[in-house]
Order: sequence, then C-alpha cells, then structure tokens
Amino acid sequence: MRKNQINRKNKPSHRSRRFLKNLFGRFFWYLLPLYLIFCCVDYALPHQTQALRSWAESRISDAEFLLTGETSKSEPFSKGSENYDVSDFEVHFLDVGQGLSVFVRSGEQTLLYDGGDRDTSSFVVAYLKQQQVESLDYVIASHYDADHINGLIGALHVFPAETIMGPDYTHESDTFDSFCQAVESQEKEVIHPSPGDCFPLGKGFFTVLAPEKEYEDSNNNSIVLRLVCGDTSFLLTGDAEAESEEDMCFSGMDLSSDVLCAGHHGSSTATTELFLSVVQPAYGIISAGKDNEYGHPHSETLQRLKAYGAEVLQTSRLGTIVFSSDGNTLTWSSFR
Ligand SMILES: [Zn+2]
Repeated sequence: MRKNQINRKNKPSHRSRRFLKNLFGRFFWYLLPLYLIFCCVDYALPHQTQALRSWAESRISDAEFLLTGETSKSEPFSKGSENYDVSDFEVHFLDVGQGLSVFVRSGEQTLLYDGGDRDTSSFVVAYLKQQQVESLDYVIASHYDADHINGLIGALHVFPAETIMGPDYTHESDTFDSFCQAVESQEKEVIHPSPGDCFPLGKGFFTVLAPEKEYEDSNNNSIVLRLVCGDTSFLLTGDAEAESEEDMCFSGMDLSSDVLCAGHHGSSTATTELFLSVVQPAYGIISAGKDNEYGHPHSETLQRLKAYGAEVLQTSRLGTIVFSSDGNTLTWSSFR
C-alpha cells in the first residue's frame, strides 16, 4: 500500500499538481505586490495623462495670451463675501463694431449705455428683444458722437425709457437732432448727472464719475459710470481720454473696478498709466471694429493694460462679451 501510495504520489499528474501548488504558494507573496503595483499604475496613468494635458493646455493658453493679449476662457474671478444669484447682475458688451454699446441687467432693472453706430442699430434692438427687454430703466448717452448714439435712437423708438441721461453740451449734427427728437417722442428730457451722483440699479447701484466740467474735446465730456454689485464693479468710460481720466483720479472718488471698458475704443490717448494705477482692473474690455480706420486699439494701450495685469478682451475678436456677477465672483463668456 505504502509503495502504492508512494507510487501514486510519484505519478506525473500528482507531481505537476504539487509543483503548481508549491509554485503558487511560494510566489503568491511575490505576485501580490506586483499585482497591486500594476493596479496603481493602471489607475494613475489616465490621471497623469489628464494632468499633463491640463498643464500643456495652460502653457498654450499662456503663450496665446502673450501673443494676442487675450484668452478665450472664463475662469471665476472671486473676491469679497456677498452672494447673489449669478443672473442677478449681467453686463453685456455688445459687438457693435467701431462703436460702443453696453447693456446691464440688474435684478428687475435694465440700463443701456450707448447704442453703437447706425449699421448696428437694428442688432442692438434685436439683442434687447432677445433678452426679453420690454422697457429700459436707464438710457445713457456717454456723449453725442454717432458711434455711440445712433443705436440709442433706434432703441428709444422701440423701448419706453424711464430715465434718459446725457452730458450737458450740444452737438451740431443730424444724429444729435434725431436723438433729441427720439427723447421728445417719449415726452422725456435728457438729465445731465454730476460727478458723485448715485442711482439705484436693481441688485446694485451706479455712481457718476465724470464729466467734471465741459471740456473742449467732446470725447472728454463722456459720462463715466461705475457700476457696483456687491464687491464687484465695472467702469464704463465712453470716449473719455487722458484729461478727464486725470480729473477723475484727483476727484477723491472711488474708481477701483474689476472690469474697465477702456476709453475711446482703446485709443492711446486714453487708459493712461495714472488711470490704470488708480482703477486697477482685472479685465480690460475694448470695443472696436476689426481693422478699423483709426487703428484702435492702439498697441500702447494693450501694453499698458497688460503691464497692469489686466486680461484684455476685445469685441472684435470675441464678439459680444457678457459678464455675470453674484456680488462676489465674476464670470464671462462670449459669442457671435
Ligand atoms: Zn467712440
């Protein structure tokens, strides 16, 4: 029997089974760590790849910024602590080519600051209708140049306006006459606000910063607004240039703003170093037509904005740019 048992154990099939058993027992503790390492590598590789991809994308984005002065991404820009809904405060920089038009929605109230030139007047009206606008609480002409008020004339023919504002000077042009007629047709008068005046605007408010006086150059007569929602703020400067900017800087009023709509379509005669040092914007918006005859925006302006760390966003490159604020965080998006 014993011999038989021995013989049975020594059969080839038994030998191979015992060999395998020993092999598994011996190598199990070697194989287990190897298997665990394999699992870790298998898990980490895609994450590593994703991290590398994100890093590469951010480097490409940085390179784009250095080349063009702008990016196409919207990263939340946070400050302060107050919180509203994102939809509570929106500032739309409309793509009106060589001109300016800014639509603001704050809670239940709306504001239209400039309306662009004649060729985009119907676009502005269509845009406001698309935004479900039925009436405007404030219609504000920064000044009376055609590339700012032609679209306002169109808007005043369609939307009832509660308060209409403009600077206190007259302009000899058919466009200015048409603007006055459009205001009269609503049985309204143009109000001339003064620096320091403050007006409620839905979830926020706006203050008037300029013009301090009547300037020789009508661009400097632009009404400048500082829109405030919680801890976030926007500066709309129309075509104000160095002279008005300097007066604002020495007025003692709060000019600090997260978003600066650069004066006079990015002309080198505006957005001075002094002004930037006081405003300290995180974003610089430039509303100008592509390949316009004035060469706006001028490279000096772009360089100054970049030197002060402002991210430059141009309507000629991005189309209409919309900022949303919850009183704490700013986000933006753009579309054509
Ligand atoms: Zn202009």
